[in-house]
Amino acid sequence: FTVLAIESSADDTCAAVVTSDKRILSNVVITQLSLHEQFRGIEPMTAIQAHQRNMPTAVRQALEIAHVDIVRDVDGICFTRGPGMPGCLSVGMNASKTLAAVLNKPLVGVHHMQGHALTSLLTSSDAEMPQFPFLTLLVSGGHTLLLLAESNTKFKILINTVDQAIGRVIDKVSALLDIPWTPLGPGDALEKYCQDVQESRLIYLGDSIMRGRRDFSFSGLHSQMERYLHSQGGLGSLDEDHKKALAYSFQSSAFAQLEDKVHLALKWCESQSIYVNHLVVSGGVASNQYLRRRLATCVKEFDPDRDIGLVFPPPKYCTDNAVMIAWASMHRFLAQDYDDYGVDLRAKWSIEELYQGKS
Ligand code: ATP
Ligand code: FE
Repeated sequence: FTVLAIESSADDTCAAVVTSDKRILSNVVITQLSLHEQFRGIEPMTAIQAHQRNMPTAVRQALEIAHVDIVRDVDGICFTRGPGMPGCLSVGMNASKTLAAVLNKPLVGVHHMQGHALTSLLTSSDAEMPQFPFLTLLVSGGHTLLLLAESNTKFKILINTVDQAIGRVIDKVSALLDIPWTPLGPGDALEKYCQDVQESRLIYLGDSIMRGRRDFSFSGLHSQMERYLHSQGGLGSLDEDHKKALAYSFQSSAFAQLEDKVHLALKWCESQSIYVNHLVVSGGVASNQYLRRRLATCVKEFDPDRDIGLVFPPPKYCTDNAVMIAWASMHRFLAQDYDDYGVDLRAKWSIEELYQGKS
């Protein structure tokens, strides 16, 4: 079964062709990072216009690179139905619905976070393949979620953020420290900026872990950064080494909170006699190599005797892409569980609703 997938929930215009036997035939991502740099965040109208401009090219390239003919070779069309920015979602949704209706192909609308959560089932080797139930940590621009994944559609939210998403705060702090953007954006820029800082340079910013609480919260850490800068007389008073140490300390505090919550979630699973063998980490922040190393230690520390597998999709499938949307649609196409051509978007959509059947 060959799927053409379209994703436009935030600031990347994405199209991909993927088959049910796990062949990724194409993966086109047209980023808008340079357009949003001046705003230091996603500017909605700019994003919508860029999707409108780029969508035809993205879809065309995805078909060309895959060497497939849309009429003859594509068996189904899927798109990101939500959650995301409504104007952005509508560009990908309307392209998909129109193509599917005109070409008489089945259509499936996909939950964006389900896409992130299931990516590793497409990209892992057989030896590392996560088995349900597994824990999944989704860390991205709009979400910080620790989920128990019980099936392709059944996700239980164990820990959620009470304020902002980790990726959003990383982007804000990258702007606060005036770190120049790299082509991969402000999170990648922050990571590279402080990658050589020694642990001994760690600056104590205050406690922001909320140890033992089953919530994520990153607004406090953001405020601590602002207060620290203020106490030092502003960014201009910091030399480069000091600024790098501060960036490193912020990253370290944010990741320490993730580690604490991973331990809490693993403990909760044990208390419920739910035996998880894998922690799958995805979403844009999961492309951070320092986070990867920290979490490897974190799961080892939880139980040195238990070999909990830590799975990260390749970085290009951690940030937004249409390959993950294609894969998350596959079980529905194979079960002939399609959406009708009039399906609407769901800008706000809890991943738990997938199982409760509230679509
Ligand atoms: P969501 O998936 O929640 O709707 P999104 O689609 O905007 O949000 P993603 O593309 O999954 O998010 O991830 C983007 C986020 O990941 C941004 O906040 C970005 O700064 C962050 N990010 C990307 N690379 C890195 C990195 N190397 N280190 C830390 N953060 C990163
Ligand atoms: Fe995303």
